[in-house]
Amino acid sequence: MALDRNNWRSSFPLHDIPHYICPTCNKGLLELDSKNLKEFNSRYSKEISKMKEYEFEWFQDRFITFLQCNNKKCQDYITLIGNVTPEHDYEDGYVSYFYPLLFNPALKIFIPCLKTPEKIVKMLNESFALFWIDKSAAVNKIRIMLEFLMDDQGIERTDTRGKMIALARRIDKFKREHNEDMGKLMEAIKWVGNDGSHAGDIKASDLFDAYEITEYVLELLYEKRKEKLTDLSSKINTAKSSLSKIPNPREPIKYFV
Ligand SMILES: [Zn+2]
Repeated sequence: MALDRNNWRSSFPLHDIPHYICPTCNKGLLELDSKNLKEFNSRYSKEISKMKEYEFEWFQDRFITFLQCNNKKCQDYITLIGNVTPEHDYEDGYVSYFYPLLFNPALKIFIPCLKTPEKIVKMLNESFALFWIDKSAAVNKIRIMLEFLMDDQGIERTDTRGKMIALARRIDKFKREHNEDMGKLMEAIKWVGNDGSHAGDIKASDLFDAYEITEYVLELLYEKRKEKLTDLSSKINTAKSSLSKIPNPREPIKYFV
């Protein structure tokens, strides 16, 4: 599923909170009750307010709150801390915009398919936690996840002399020996990951690119949706009817006594 990038914008006003899915149950929506929101003036803002001339947009304060899952079976709490800044809105004058820095537990920017190995899920969750505060570190975790993915696909980490094999070479091997098209997707993730390690200036849009391709690669590798649907459609085509209209050859025929 395509990522709704706008939902993961860097800030929001209280009247337009993004639709965050609960990271505990993966079902409920997180709700914020403004009664539970606490804002604090930063030292920086106090200094600015002493100046003869200043703009409201220069203020940068702190906030702390919690969100609660609206799924009756879950109702978990997620703590949120960040910065808050007044921004000019032509209709409402100045409106407070909240910039999240930390969600605990971390929100899942996408939910990897069920059969994704635990080690890969863990690295993704670490990347999601860092998304808000350090984008280069978040993309670095995606690069490490790719190394785990190569391990899981049986591509050796070290050569015959015990020397580490570069990720690019491991992906080339995957392309040659497994699936070239899927390898190209992994290569694109690796390029974004390289910029996180070397250039150090990663934008949210770069991370979204890496997340979106990663989600698709995991689905191809572990969900095998294409294979399942090809198999299903070939069964329907062979039967030339809906499957419920024919006895299932894998199940013994039930006789009514
Ligand atoms: Zn929940």
